[in-house]
Amino acid sequence: MLGQLRRIVQDVAQEPVLQNALAGLVTSVKHALATECCSVYLANYEQQHFMLMATDGLNPQAVGSIAIGFSEGLIGWVGQREEPINLAKAHLHPRFKVTPEVSEDNFSAFLGCPIIHHRKVLGVLTIQQAAERVFNEDEESFLVTLGAQLASVLANAEMRQAASESSPSQTQTGQLKGLPGAPGIAIGEAYVLEPANDFNAISLKRADDADKELAHFYRAVKITKAEFNRLAERMSGHLPPDALAIFDVYHQLLDAASLGREIELQIAEGWCAKSALKRVVEKFARQFDDMDDPYLRERGTDIRDLGQRVLNNLLDTEQRKIKLPEKVVLVADNVTATMLAEVPRHQLVAIVSLKGSVNSHAAIMARALGIPAVMGVNDLPLLHWQRQRLIVDGYQGHILLSPVDAICLEYQRLISEDAALNARYLAEIAQPSQSLCGKAFNLMVNSGLAIELETTNPAYTDGVGLYRTEFPFIMRSRFPTEQEQIELYRKVLESYPTKPVIMRTLDVGGDKALPYFSIVEENPFLGWRGIRLTLDHPEIFLVQIRAMLKANLAIDNLHILLPMISDLAEVDESLRLIKQASFEVSDELAIELPRPKIGVMIEVPSIMYQLPELARKVDFCSIGTNDLTQYLLAVDRNNPRVASLYDAMHPAVLRALHQFNQQAQGLQFPTSVCGELAGEPAGILLLAAMGYTSFSMNSSNLAKIKWLLRRVELSELALLLPEVLACQSAKQVRQHVQRFLEQKQLLSQLRA
Ligand code: PEP
Ligand code: MG
Repeated sequence: MLGQLRRIVQDVAQEPVLQNALAGLVTSVKHALATECCSVYLANYEQQHFMLMATDGLNPQAVGSIAIGFSEGLIGWVGQREEPINLAKAHLHPRFKVTPEVSEDNFSAFLGCPIIHHRKVLGVLTIQQAAERVFNEDEESFLVTLGAQLASVLANAEMRQAASESSPSQTQTGQLKGLPGAPGIAIGEAYVLEPANDFNAISLKRADDADKELAHFYRAVKITKAEFNRLAERMSGHLPPDALAIFDVYHQLLDAASLGREIELQIAEGWCAKSALKRVVEKFARQFDDMDDPYLRERGTDIRDLGQRVLNNLLDTEQRKIKLPEKVVLVADNVTATMLAEVPRHQLVAIVSLKGSVNSHAAIMARALGIPAVMGVNDLPLLHWQRQRLIVDGYQGHILLSPVDAICLEYQRLISEDAALNARYLAEIAQPSQSLCGKAFNLMVNSGLAIELETTNPAYTDGVGLYRTEFPFIMRSRFPTEQEQIELYRKVLESYPTKPVIMRTLDVGGDKALPYFSIVEENPFLGWRGIRLTLDHPEIFLVQIRAMLKANLAIDNLHILLPMISDLAEVDESLRLIKQASFEVSDELAIELPRPKIGVMIEVPSIMYQLPELARKVDFCSIGTNDLTQYLLAVDRNNPRVASLYDAMHPAVLRALHQFNQQAQGLQFPTSVCGELAGEPAGILLLAAMGYTSFSMNSSNLAKIKWLLRRVELSELALLLPEVLACQSAKQVRQHVQRFLEQKQLLSQLRA
């Protein structure tokens, strides 16, 4: 049963044309359940009806023409109730609607099951039979399971269809929805960086020139065989001869008499080399997967491994051929810092990441660079987008595919408006950071994730409130040496000679991975992250602290910040190591070292409840609202499925921040906020209303935030605060703040 289900879902997922996928689906289900009819209806929300999209058993002429209203018939009833309906005598049911065109007079038994994706009914799957009987539990659970598994596949298939229908030659603009990752609008060409070895990301495509595709395939096979020869040679002293024989098997599989032959045939049938490889590898691997014999079943893995290697070599030659467009929209399964570094800054106009969510680090990087980003766009076949013109709307989280000129003009107008607004903010960048009533604020920048140093002139900031040190670690193929780190940190400290620079110790784990230090965990955000990892590796921590201390020697503006602290013992251990590093450096250089101030990130709720003890141990704290929100709300900041639940404006988060500040003020414990909330207009107003005065944000937000603070009075904010703290939802909070901005006639000047 499980094998059948998996096969049916995989077949649907692999078929590039939705109509064909559904036609295959109904026939497979009909056979698998040995029934007499299977049909699928898809919802059309604009028209408020379900359309018969495929059937094996009803009148085939009715496909594409029979629409059943959302509140009509048994199909509409399944959709309304959002649960299966199983009837022995469907035609006698009061909800039964006579539709002569479908010719269902012969059928009595009816089982309909909704296909639901993210709470939205996408369609209805039905089976029917002549005999008057209720379908049994196994049949019902088969259909329910199939419906659940099909839901995301169908949602993707619809998006794929949208993507494929928007080829540049057409006059229709396709639209895809994701999540707003970074504000702004950009028009550019897609530059797709594919994950090295993911068959799922390959969309099936036809090619005109079979000879060219064959040559492409042969070249990849040749490179792959050479790789195997090198591998076999390298392993020959280490592996027994029977284990080495696998390389001979791989060679043979690639030969013309075996898999290679099948792939050639597929290419001759008109598929491009990648698609041919995908079709053959998946077909054979699946056959092995379904075998009873465990030895033979394992061979499925070999076929996939082999296929992956050939695919890598196919993609490698393809990627090398692609020239960077003038205006690059970087599209990738999961945009990483290394990918960003591949594109010159002046050419990069936007980011589209299929994975990730609003506060993933890729989104934060985009905000740091001041370019729009759309996240969590779903598993689309990436290469399809290569070189297509895209509009990226980072405000709405939308992407327009191959937009027609009229739409581009419209968006160009919005881009110009944004530029004008920005110019307005920048005109006041040199003015004091203070409210209308004269309350002074400390506005610092977050730095480190971007490729270059920040764009804001240090003279207009109050220092660096958060320097993320991860980037230089991520960009290398090994841990940076002490000397490399000294040079880098010195450059940052020297850029702000008279202002504080708060350097955070290495905070990897979660969604930030080091290419040379793999961490595979079930729950990476609850796992080996930040200080937990570096305390377990004092050799990494000590080298970093030594480098910071040495870089600080002649400048003396260094502050050290400890990330992901959840327990006071971690603070004690960090302080002990910092002291040790300080002694070592002092001893080595025979000089007295300035003692940097040491602070803790407040991002795990537990430490908020130990503030008095914490305040006795360290000099300051900085609130990381990005992580604090995810840990308070138990919502993964990187998971698009739960993105609608992740919101720093949740009343619980706001109450926690308010209470924390009251306590910190009582203890006279210096506190600032460095999470993304501080760079949001609504966020900064509420934080200022709570009494926070020190903030750190992406430099691309600084001018706007300063401009806004200069237009409000604390007494007005004091009235707003109790209203929002009494709200029941983030949505209500946002509405309150919006109303406040509207009343002050500021809203139209803040596209946020
Ligand atoms: C935070 O968690 O709010 C923070 C500033 O750190 P990061 O986003 O790097 O996790
Ligand atoms: Mg954090």
